[in-house]
Amino acid sequence: MPVVAWAAPAGQGRPLAYWPPESGFFMPLSAADIIAQLATLVGPAAVIGAPEQMGNYLNEPRKRFHKGAAAIVLPASVSEVQAIVRWANEHGVGLIPQGGNTGLVGAQVPLRGDEVIISLTRLDTIRSVDPAAGTMTAEAGVILENAHKAAEAQGTIFPLWLASQGSARIGGLLSSNAGGVNVLTYGNARELTMGVEAVLADGRLYQGLNSLKKDNTGYDLKDLLVGAEGTLGIITAATLKLFPKPEDYETCLVNIVGPEAALTLFQLLRERLGGRLNAFEIVPALGLDMQLRHAMLDRDPTAGPSPGMR
Ligand SMILES: Cc1cc2nc3c(=O)[nH]c(=O)nc-3n(C[C@H](O)[C@H](O)[C@H](O)COP(=O)(O)OP(=O)(O)OC[C@H]3O[C@@H](n4cnc5c(N)ncnc54)[C@H](O)[C@@H]3O)c2cc1C
Repeated sequence: MPVVAWAAPAGQGRPLAYWPPESGFFMPLSAADIIAQLATLVGPAAVIGAPEQMGNYLNEPRKRFHKGAAAIVLPASVSEVQAIVRWANEHGVGLIPQGGNTGLVGAQVPLRGDEVIISLTRLDTIRSVDPAAGTMTAEAGVILENAHKAAEAQGTIFPLWLASQGSARIGGLLSSNAGGVNVLTYGNARELTMGVEAVLADGRLYQGLNSLKKDNTGYDLKDLLVGAEGTLGIITAATLKLFPKPEDYETCLVNIVGPEAALTLFQLLRERLGGRLNAFEIVPALGLDMQLRHAMLDRDPTAGPSPGMR
């Protein structure tokens, strides 16, 4: 069976080469052919072929990767994603799924320069929110902050919070198994995901949206797709776990002398508070000082300096 290549996560080498179908190697398409053929699948307005218009998709946050792309394609529906993947598989074109382009390891941008970025940003519908079942089904392109708002409008929370939440999207967060600041209580994205819908390498749709908590059937393909960084398929939607919204939060800053003291404090708080402790972070003095120096904080929120830590 022909298998289309996905971009491997950075640090794991180059993207997989194209595995040829039974008939032999692919005749590479020119960039112009790629753009023209994609336009027949999704319409010309959903294909970016001009390098000067690709900046938002190619420039990743750390500016470490500087390759171009053959094209950027922006499907508007699951069936368009399927058509693109099927076409890429037939022609041996490398596809790189992209969400909010906030990943810090460059896995959402090309490594060679002849790949097509498939941006999921237009699949941004929240299909349903069910506070009674504690679930939300959101498409891959939903911005995390919008998922938060939809959950909170129903008196619930989707407890994945991180600094990129205004741009990062559900498909990218799941594909990188993101953690965020509340990982201690609620777990990584994998633990917050009940089911996944994904387009597989040959264009078939894996329909694994599931909201049954006591599901003990068969293999858990969802757990494979989450954290796969697009290597096993393109996530198009996911069923996410919602939690009751806490009535209130208390935040406390404690000066400590070092990491050992932090662990002792953590153990104590866990014993006393159990599941009510939902975040615990060490802020090194260096980080706080930098914020003060650059006026990101107007005053030192701690009681005073502690040696090396706060
Ligand atoms: C300021 C900042 C703070 C951050 N803080 C944290 C943090 O506290 N904890 C943490 O875990 N991470 C953190 N991150 C990184 C975080 O993992 C990413 O921001 C986020 O998870 C990626 O989402 P995205 O939509 O931007 O995905 P992208 O960057 O677009 O893509 C990330 C990966 O997922 C793949 N991908 C994207 N969409 C799909 C899809 N639909 N199907 C299959 N594969 C797909 C891409 O190919 C790539 O491999 C931070 C990033 C920034 C910039």
